[in-house]
Amino acid sequence: MTSPSSDTKITAATPIRAPSAIPVDDAVLPFEVDALDLRGRLTRLGPALDDILTKHDYPAPVGKLLGEAIVLATLLGSSLKFDGRFLLQTQTDGPVSFLIVDFRAPDRLRAYARYDAKRIRGDLESGALLGKGHLAMTIDQGPDMSRYQGLVALDGGSLEDAAHEYFLRSEQIPTRVRLAVGEEWRGGDGPKHRWRAGGMLLQFLPKAPERARQADLHPGDAPDGVVTHEVAEDDAWVEGQSLLSTVEDIELIDPDLSGERLLYRLFHERGVRVFAPLPLRAQCSCSRDAVSAMLKSFAPKDRADMVKDDKVVVTCEFCSSVYQFTPDEAGVE
Ligand SMILES: [Zn+2]
Repeated sequence: MTSPSSDTKITAATPIRAPSAIPVDDAVLPFEVDALDLRGRLTRLGPALDDILTKHDYPAPVGKLLGEAIVLATLLGSSLKFDGRFLLQTQTDGPVSFLIVDFRAPDRLRAYARYDAKRIRGDLESGALLGKGHLAMTIDQGPDMSRYQGLVALDGGSLEDAAHEYFLRSEQIPTRVRLAVGEEWRGGDGPKHRWRAGGMLLQFLPKAPERARQADLHPGDAPDGVVTHEVAEDDAWVEGQSLLSTVEDIELIDPDLSGERLLYRLFHERGVRVFAPLPLRAQCSCSRDAVSAMLKSFAPKDRADMVKDDKVVVTCEFCSSVYQFTPDEAGVE
């Protein structure tokens, strides 16, 4: 890799500039570290996350968990083409029994969680909030494409653990994920409390596939005496993981540290190339027409049961928008 011709080529194709000091919120920043065959994405969320979480007034531990799920969905869903849709859902027996993040390419995000307020405690980490069940990730690339769903068991571990399991089992690309969510408290005028989040996904994609071999995370229920599958990881991937492990939560959510600066801080010795940021926004896709169509798909008896005080009121679980219909508009006979 030290021949003059390849050096010249890389320089010509890659204008080099100093990392921007301007933090960009609500965006995914794709990057690559050629020298280590690493590719990745860095998500920074500010106002979009705050918008989604404050509409529901979630208890802090629930907001933090849903924030982690939202960051994970942006890291995984932002590689989708045009009108693709990425859904991340959990169904579990813990205090947060259900959560869903709906990411519609290229930039729309919405999410909500169902939880049992009596079982929420401030000291519960994400794994304990979720409990046991499963995480489902669905990729829908439009009407002409087949839907893909990946399932991962949740057993008291974090969403980071579940993501690692997912990549090991389904994509078989060496992958590491970091997720961080925090609350920012400000003095002075304006809102005092804001949610922020950040996350990074790092993947090892060498040209020679044998370099990407991975050991099983769990030996499974192999009988006694069976030798565990051990694979020495490639030096480049060992280095990538160790660099990623140095990232602090505070760096991922720091409103004053730009994503480019953070990437430079981590990878400058090897050279990092950063691509144009992909913006994100919080926007629900519900509408009066869509709710009306949904009501008409219900059985007549179910529609009739929804009438209260001579009205049918439907609240969108994602964005808390309220839609009100007369029994006649709702198709009640
Ligand atoms: Zn909505």
